[in-house]
Amino acid sequence: MDDGIRIAIDGPASSGKGTVARGVAKQLGYAYIDTGAMFRAVALAAEDAGVDWHDEESVAALVADLDVGFQWSEGAVEMVVDGRAIAHRIRSERIGGGASAVARYPGVRSALLDLQRSLAQRGGVVMDGRDIGSVVLPDAELKVYLDASADTRAKRRFDEMRHRDPDVTYEAIKAEIQARDTQDLNRSQAPLVRVPDAVYVDTSNMTVEQAVEQILLAAASRI
Ligand code: C5P
Repeated sequence: MDDGIRIAIDGPASSGKGTVARGVAKQLGYAYIDTGAMFRAVALAAEDAGVDWHDEESVAALVADLDVGFQWSEGAVEMVVDGRAIAHRIRSERIGGGASAVARYPGVRSALLDLQRSLAQRGGVVMDGRDIGSVVLPDAELKVYLDASADTRAKRRFDEMRHRDPDVTYEAIKAEIQARDTQDLNRSQAPLVRVPDAVYVDTSNMTVEQAVEQILLAAASRI
């Protein structure tokens, strides 16, 4: 890989994947690719079109016609759907739930898989999601499973969300995250799994810097 290795980071909701993956990519001068944003974009597009997230046929038809592009923003790929940047509209836990619903459908996953693989083709990427080490890039040079306790993850998401929505409660966030993880772990298509060759990093008692450092150490021996 002339342009660098491929680093696959998987893990449950709010385990710190996005922040840590972005930090690793920055240190290495690699691109950061957030595949969760792609499923969130599909959920948002369905909602905008009045399509029910639980209507598999209609969601799959919508994905087939969706005009998905990308733009670069500070070294990270950002989704552009139907010519519009949508990053600011996809971060809510509600859209996360919608993403988890539409991510069950084979038609959605296969449409996004080609995009994900093409973005990683040249190497020099840090890609995060649920099935990157198992399905998208099974031959990635480095695979990481980023974890954290359920309470830590709920607290992190709550701290992130309370600024945007003062009515949000810790209990509600924790329940939403748990429901999403249960769905992501138990679906038949590309469930969240900890592949045996992944480096396991539990970030419950780590700072972002410590988690980034641990992954950089693992990457150093593979570059
Ligand atoms: O990572 P993030 O929380 O943004 O992902 C939103 C949802 O998208 C996840 O709960 C999961 O259902 C789905 N997803 C997936 N495969 C990926 C990335 C995300 O199924 N590679």
